Amino acid sequence: MSGVLVLAEHREGALRDASFETMAAGRQLAEALGTDLSAVLLGGTPEMAQLVADRGVKVRHARHELLAAFNSEAYQRALVALVQELASDAVLMPHSSFGNDLGPSLAVALGCGAVSDCIGFEKTDAGLKVTRGMYASKLHAEVLVPELPLVAMVRQSEFKQAGPGDGGAVEAWDPGPALAEPLRTRFISVEEVPTTGIDITKADVVIAVGRGVKEEANIAAVRELADSLGAVLAGSRPVIDAGWLEKERQVGSSGKTVKPKLYIALGISGAFQHVAGMKGAETIVAVNKDPHAPIFGVAHYGIVDDLLKVVPVLRQKLVEAK
Ligand SMILES: Cc1cc2nc3c(=O)[nH]c(=O)nc-3n(C[C@H](O)[C@H](O)[C@H](O)COP(=O)(O)OP(=O)(O)OC[C@H]3O[C@@H](n4cnc5c(N)ncnc54)[C@H](O)[C@@H]3O)c2cc1C
Repeated sequence: MSGVLVLAEHREGALRDASFETMAAGRQLAEALGTDLSAVLLGGTPEMAQLVADRGVKVRHARHELLAAFNSEAYQRALVALVQELASDAVLMPHSSFGNDLGPSLAVALGCGAVSDCIGFEKTDAGLKVTRGMYASKLHAEVLVPELPLVAMVRQSEFKQAGPGDGGAVEAWDPGPALAEPLRTRFISVEEVPTTGIDITKADVVIAVGRGVKEEANIAAVRELADSLGAVLAGSRPVIDAGWLEKERQVGSSGKTVKPKLYIALGISGAFQHVAGMKGAETIVAVNKDPHAPIFGVAHYGIVDDLLKVVPVLRQKLVEAK
């Protein structure tokens, strides 16, 4: 057995950040196992392959018309062939909708174990210990993997993206033989969900409201604050589910990941699924009535008070400061 193999995920012509986060997880696992890290890009472009190689890893780039868009069956066949050829210790991919489609069936095809939502790897005398989330991350479980190989889906936003590194290279890898037999499934098209054009991921300042805002009418004051700051308004999932803000404004694991200069969380408890989408912000300010709210664990500045009192004061101060 040799090597940890990371699948670089791309969508709609671009590599996803989760690919580089998964590479960072792969590096942690490779170090724990005392082995090498490499990557594979199925489909995609030479430019994408080079971007992955720039992180200091060897990338096998498989180009084939059946790999141009994600197809779980085609990806699985190609990966089975590559993992067997390399005798990989582990295959890592993002815990995304693609990864969760592909990972378990890949493990079945390889006859090995699969662990989803992975957040850490450690070598022990009994085998590889993988830490993963359970019950919507209310618990962390430690899973012992006595035998390799392993297929692991890595939680998004958990690892800092792998930085640039030397020694990377792109090598063409021919998936042709693995894809010679007809597939039972085929990619037809991507159907975009209609959007309003709001993109909270591009904003320098994001003000997010949570269930603590109590009712839709109270969002007006937060919107005024956002306008004063030139900020974009966002929300936690309950606010989106209630229909008080558009779906594109949801921050979190089932919404968007934002990395603004300033993130103001108003009446948000700081559940893991929310924090996953905003912990990369440069400065985080939280306003919450509960001094023990988990959001204060990630906030750089905190105000323990009623947001309905704090928001108008903040806005007034900003107007005066102008
Ligand atoms: C599979 C899955 C995916 C999920 N994805 C997401 C996601 O993408 N994004 C997301 O946000 N959540 C997501 N969730 C939901 C998540 O688990 C939490 O339930 C959610 O983040 C809680 O939102 P909240 O903080 O607004 O509400 P609550 O947890 O109810 O917190 C409200 C907070 O407001 C405070 N508060 C109350 N009144 C006031 C006041 N007047 N002034 C100041 N503070 C006040 C309270 O002290 C409390 O801390 C997901 C859950 C699951 C299971």
